[in-house]
Amino acid sequence: MATDQNKFQAIISHCKEYGFIFPSSEIYDGLSAVYDYGQYGAELKKNVRDYWWRSMTQMHDNIVGIDAAIFMHPTVWKASGHVDNFSDPMIDNKDSKKRYRVDHLIEGYADTLPEAEKDAVIAAMENYLKENDYAGLKAFIEEKKIACAVSGTVNWTDIRQFNLMFSTEFGAVAAENEGDNKVYLRPETAQGIFVNFLNVQKTGRMKIPFGIAQVGKAFRNEIVARQFVFRMREFEQMEMQFFIRPGTQQEWYAYWKEERMKWHKSLGLKPEHLQFHDHAKLAHYADAAVDIEYNFPIGFKEVEGIHSRTDFDLSQHQKFSGKKLQYFDPEINQNYVPYVIETSIGLDRCCFMVLSEAYEEQEVGTAEKPDTRVVLKFPPKLAPIKLAVFPLTKKDGLPEIAKHLIAECKKNFYCYYEEKDSIGKRYRRQDAIGTPFCVTVDHQTIEDGTVTVRHRDSMEQERIPLTAVKEMVMKAMMD
Ligand code: ATP
Repeated sequence: MATDQNKFQAIISHCKEYGFIFPSSEIYDGLSAVYDYGQYGAELKKNVRDYWWRSMTQMHDNIVGIDAAIFMHPTVWKASGHVDNFSDPMIDNKDSKKRYRVDHLIEGYADTLPEAEKDAVIAAMENYLKENDYAGLKAFIEEKKIACAVSGTVNWTDIRQFNLMFSTEFGAVAAENEGDNKVYLRPETAQGIFVNFLNVQKTGRMKIPFGIAQVGKAFRNEIVARQFVFRMREFEQMEMQFFIRPGTQQEWYAYWKEERMKWHKSLGLKPEHLQFHDHAKLAHYADAAVDIEYNFPIGFKEVEGIHSRTDFDLSQHQKFSGKKLQYFDPEINQNYVPYVIETSIGLDRCCFMVLSEAYEEQEVGTAEKPDTRVVLKFPPKLAPIKLAVFPLTKKDGLPEIAKHLIAECKKNFYCYYEEKDSIGKRYRRQDAIGTPFCVTVDHQTIEDGTVTVRHRDSMEQERIPLTAVKEMVMKAMMD
């Protein structure tokens, strides 16, 4: 698969240099697979989140949004199957009795190898993990003679599962009843929707088909975690569960598949950068599942999953809680446990997708004066800052006019004022954070009330009336 490691690294550096995404706790050397969003990253993420939220709730009469807690009753995760099935492989050394995460063990060994061999070992490991081939992976560890750091031996147990859920204790912990207080940090937001199905259906007088949407943090103690915000241990999901009459799942699955693909295209992504990937191996409860994949610099990878989940989740919660989770359908005069179509997308992955699509390094100089610019071509609706306003000089009343324009606009969208350095340098700084419009106020503005607008992508400049700026930006944000 064609990948572009240089572009991947360039995006990571750019995100750090320009205040989009920083490693968490960086002054302490970071925390693996955890990231913080900086001033522009937080705006970008908020814009993506809001756009998703609006397109689900505001744009669909029959979808409402909720905000459930991260902590849930521990039985929720038994009912959902996460306690038993949500796990990653571990291995123990029989001599030292030390336990390792298999990926850590192999990565530690790979780090001692030359670059090319290291990559091959990591690729082989990822392949075994993907195939769930633990016997093969153990044989690989033995074949490479990967030894325990404590005993120095290759005397390993079989590989066993390790649960990906983070757990913590609730309230004061008494040593004697340890375990009773155990709660999990949710590994997905979906269960908060299922347990509230009846609350929302009854209080909102919702009629099937209807959906419940939610955005929120999820936590997974991921085993392979070296892919920037693509795979994090703390991340955000945007999920929607669509409750339907049993037997109609095929038609709704097809509907949501198309609807979600349309949404991705509306982010300005090139159609050839998106593809469907049908799941070859279905989870036991699913009767259809597809991923929407994006062509990241690290290859085509999942951004969103669309799953036809049957009545598995509600039935399980009915069983474990002892409460009826049914719907009376007046049209067919029947009670049933609704079926569910789920759309589940990672907000961080989505931001990384938008960043990957937007990032461009361009040669913009001449033969005599070579020059490059880095530009983030965000769609205006997602750009952190929509409009930058520059007075040409710091005197003659130009800053006042510029600041007045900002005061006019900032109630409607995020603006940026800058008077330092040449106009060219100011353009470059805005290009690097993806601001679609820069406006310069000069002496002609005083004479005829016009300003220069410079368009980010084409770098074209035009003069327009000062009074037309706000509307131009608002119009571009609607696309
Ligand atoms: P993957 O196969 O990549 O681990 P998944 O199939 O486990 O993903 P789901 O459980 O279907 O993912 O979660 C839905 C969405 O949540 C994914 O499509 C992805 O966008 C996002 N997501 C899942 N795990 C992570 C993670 N560790 N970091 C960032 N986003 C994630």
